[in-house]
Amino acid sequence: MSYHADERGYYGEFGGAFIPEMLYPNCEELRQNYLKIMAEPSFQEEFHQLLKDYVGRPTPLYFAERLSKKYNTKIYLKREDLCHTGAHKVNNTIGQILMAKRLGKHRIIAETGAGQHGVATATVCALMGIECVVYMGEIDIARQAPNVARMKMLGAEVHPATSGSKTLKDATNEAIRDWINNPVDTHYIIGSVVGPHPYPDMVARFQSVISEEVKSQLLEKEGRENPDFVVACVGGGSNAAGAFYHFLDTPEVGIIAVEAAGKGIHSGESAATSALGKVGIIHGSKTLLMQTPDGQITEPYSISAGLDYPGVGPLHAHLYTSGRGEFISITDDEAMKAGLDLCKFEGIIPAIESSHALAIFKDRKFKENDVVVVNLSGRGDKDLQNYIDYFKL
Ligand SMILES: *Cc1c(COP(=O)(O)O)cnc(C)c1O
Repeated sequence: MSYHADERGYYGEFGGAFIPEMLYPNCEELRQNYLKIMAEPSFQEEFHQLLKDYVGRPTPLYFAERLSKKYNTKIYLKREDLCHTGAHKVNNTIGQILMAKRLGKHRIIAETGAGQHGVATATVCALMGIECVVYMGEIDIARQAPNVARMKMLGAEVHPATSGSKTLKDATNEAIRDWINNPVDTHYIIGSVVGPHPYPDMVARFQSVISEEVKSQLLEKEGRENPDFVVACVGGGSNAAGAFYHFLDTPEVGIIAVEAAGKGIHSGESAATSALGKVGIIHGSKTLLMQTPDGQITEPYSISAGLDYPGVGPLHAHLYTSGRGEFISITDDEAMKAGLDLCKFEGIIPAIESSHALAIFKDRKFKENDVVVVNLSGRGDKDLQNYIDYFKL
């Protein structure tokens, strides 16, 4: 079985491009060019140079000795938290801004929920001196003032989405409307392995630098390229896609995807898409999503803004239904405790998203000699207020 997108963008039954007629030329231009452009030596050279000098790659693969002792297995942390801007998202925005330049685009648009993808996009637009418009729900703008300020400092224009629930879904609709109106000069940077083909495949390829590095780093530390397990949290699924990518076709490597159970899978306040989702279409892609019996998208909930998404990328829907991936849901409380544990045991304050991945060790047992790589997708600076409120610090 293949775990990579076919030429129509399908992972098993999931994926594809379910888009309005008027968006067809935009996606088609990208589809016809993305693999060709990514294969150009000059593209690869510029991409890897920026990953090295601007993002700070390769990120370390750190053997977490005290955490490993606690759980009686060998835990390695892939330190995406040390990337410039504090998370893995910039790997993708660097790739896409270079793609946009090759396609002759002068203007970038993006949508953002909590603002993390907006900041990563505004960052690379400043780097390249390209105009940047970020769509963001009015309610999210009010909730995420520091990220709005960051985007403005970086020179981006933040457009409030004032329709519907005034959150991510509405910001996405406005970004799509903008793209339809500006097909020639504008590139739309999507922030995860979601959206119509070719976005899920393109974003996974940009993020695949994570597992590429893990292989050579493990070879150096353990004398073998493959871990026994690789673990990552899944919102839309981009850090997980990058961490899994080079192990997808190696069945000896166990793949563990961790979703947000919020206040409990069946509490009505959760984002556990695989457990609760049914097949449907979101953001132009056929995948698993949380919906009511009549097909309305259910409002997701998680204490971590990055996992608060009602769907999951089509790759992950395929990993789930095919049984290739093991899916575990972690509640807010479990994640917060695991996050504080990492602080106390290793001196690393993780993003709450990443804390979900760390929380599996309490119940999911591994053998003493198992090598378990956890993708530490981001750092906790952005979540300080959440940690303060939760632990009454
Ligand atoms: C955005 C974000 C996520 C979730 O996005 P994916 O596309 O699922 O990776 C996870 N961790 C951090 C730190 C994030 O900022």
